[in-house]
Amino acid sequence: MIRINDILDQIHSYMPDADTSLVEKAYVYSAKVHAGQMRLSGEPYLSHPLAVAYILAQQKLDLSSITAGLLHDAVEDTLSTIEEIEEMFGQDVARIVDGVTKISQINFQSKIQKQAENIRKMILAMSKDIRVLLVKLADRLHNMRTLQYQKERKRIKIARETLDIYAPLASRLGIDWIKRELEDLAFSFLYPEEYQELKQEVEARLGARKAYVEEVKEIISKKMAEYSLSCRVLGRPKHLYSIFRKMRRQNVSLDEIYDLIAFRIILKTVTECYEALGIVHSLWKPVPGRFKDYISLPKANMYQSLHTTVIGPYGERMEIQIRTEEMDKVATEGIAAHWLYKEGKILKKDQQRQFEWLKRLMEWQKELEDPREFLESVRMDLFPDEVYVLTPNGEIKEFPMGATPIDFAYSIHTEVGHHCVGAKVNGKMVPLKYQLQNGDVVEIITSKHHKPSRDWLKIARTSRARARIRQWIKTEEREKSLALGKDLCLREFKKHRLDFSSFLKEDAEEVASSLSFKTVDDMLIAAGYGKISPSQIVRKYVKIKHVEDLEEAMEQQEVQAQSKTRKPQGEGIQIQGHDDIMIHLAKCCTPVPGDEVIGYITRGRGVTIHREDCPNVTSLEPDRKIEVTWTTDDGVNYPVMLNVVTADEKGMLAAVSNAISAAEANILEAKVYTSPDNSAHFTFVAEVRDSTHLKKVISGIKKVNGVMRVDRQTSV
Ligand code: MN
Repeated sequence: MIRINDILDQIHSYMPDADTSLVEKAYVYSAKVHAGQMRLSGEPYLSHPLAVAYILAQQKLDLSSITAGLLHDAVEDTLSTIEEIEEMFGQDVARIVDGVTKISQINFQSKIQKQAENIRKMILAMSKDIRVLLVKLADRLHNMRTLQYQKERKRIKIARETLDIYAPLASRLGIDWIKRELEDLAFSFLYPEEYQELKQEVEARLGARKAYVEEVKEIISKKMAEYSLSCRVLGRPKHLYSIFRKMRRQNVSLDEIYDLIAFRIILKTVTECYEALGIVHSLWKPVPGRFKDYISLPKANMYQSLHTTVIGPYGERMEIQIRTEEMDKVATEGIAAHWLYKEGKILKKDQQRQFEWLKRLMEWQKELEDPREFLESVRMDLFPDEVYVLTPNGEIKEFPMGATPIDFAYSIHTEVGHHCVGAKVNGKMVPLKYQLQNGDVVEIITSKHHKPSRDWLKIARTSRARARIRQWIKTEEREKSLALGKDLCLREFKKHRLDFSSFLKEDAEEVASSLSFKTVDDMLIAAGYGKISPSQIVRKYVKIKHVEDLEEAMEQQEVQAQSKTRKPQGEGIQIQGHDDIMIHLAKCCTPVPGDEVIGYITRGRGVTIHREDCPNVTSLEPDRKIEVTWTTDDGVNYPVMLNVVTADEKGMLAAVSNAISAAEANILEAKVYTSPDNSAHFTFVAEVRDSTHLKKVISGIKKVNGVMRVDRQTSV
């Protein structure tokens, strides 16, 4: 049990000249009003305010906070009044006690609207003085430390509330040690079995890694000394709840969590921190994407540090934090670190930043009449990764940051999602990619005929919406591919004078299973996707039915086809909303990556890609045109046809061919015609990577002496 002298000693350790008479007076008063009361642990009640005051002194807080800590339960649990406290201990202390009392009366585990009202009360109480929250956190910490004496139902309720409200608040204030302790305590009460198991396993692993931790610390220290950097190196195990949360979130076992220990290098100056980072990265390979610079971009709670993850000496991931002594202080103690509250003193500007969120809350609380709106704004600030929006009926919906109206639509109903065409936010139309903001009132506009598109996957954030969209696309693509596959097979069968409908009736199943498809539909869908060719189906059919003359004919065709096929056609093309559809590049205009292109859904030959300026495009049925885009470079070469007109001189063919080769293009075909007007006409089919490459080829040809014109052929 903490004694008053422990508190006084602690105060004098950081305020040697402090006049502690007010604290001592509060001790006497608290002892008097709580006399005879007992804690569930069997200890005298006074042990609790003493413990709370000690936690506050540990944070090096001011005398008013510590005094209020001693008195924090007096008004709620005894006959004393706030007026009496103000009279005896002054306005400052009374205000804190009053705030803490008000927060204590709040029941957070209520329906959402009531909860809004409750949080509003809490914000109101603490907005008057941030020390209210510091005392409340100390109070909660000690209650959590002694929670085992409570009945189970209350235990669960308090632990849940701690995890939901108080640990995030501690985090928001940057008081890392309280946050960690609150989380681990809550974890142990909410998931006792998991907690015990994890604790034992982690301890066993850490025990085995003691030598390893020392070794890493040694390596770092030595290396820093080499560069004349003096530093402290710490190797601290991560707290259990953070490990547990990571295992849950990523669905991994403890064995798959490598960085149980976070190493920390603490130096003197910011420059040294970046220097140390360079040294660490030269020592061990950094894991890409894991470097974070919270020094130049501090977190909202003023946390500053460099974070990196490297591949350590045994090939394992190691998390390393690099910061100055001052930053380390802020990181562990938060608000209390650079804020020894002195009455009447104005906080330095950078320190004020910590309170900005609180100020904002205060302003909101004045402005927002609707408790729900208020709740959203508050919750947002406590849990910055979530966004809260409202339905037109005032129902609150919660989304991850970056969520869009699509997520909102699917959260209402799958059908609303599928038919969503737009959204109104706060009465105004917004694009579907609009990112929902806190407090937005969202109304979804649907149209019966509208369908999801693949692009929605890029803007949907919730797993629910993404799963529904994927499911829809899959079904849709299956249907389309089935129709396309049927069409393609029908043509192939016709070509060989075979009856497709009797094939479907009689032999399709056998052919499908011999091609290892479960069903006939699966086989036809595969043909539609271009995964197998219709001729493969015909061949199998012919083989099974022993139509011998056909078999021979087909084999010959196959040989011919193979010799003609060079590169997979249309690999670099993506059609919006479709995967794996058979694509052909039009022979008339030979498009290459970089060209503006358009797709045309042929009857039975998949999609043909034309250049947008191809004269043939105008004569195509508009309904069958679809948008297509080139995907990134896939290393495939594309044939392109070039007409070259030169003077009719000797050696022109060789000169132009050389120019094409010099531009690193392959010549597939070259034809020559002479014309009566003393010019020579060549047609080249060359392979290029993309339109830039093509330009290079053309300008290469143009430089050849005697070349008069070079045109890309746009039509046969
Ligand atoms: Mn208390």
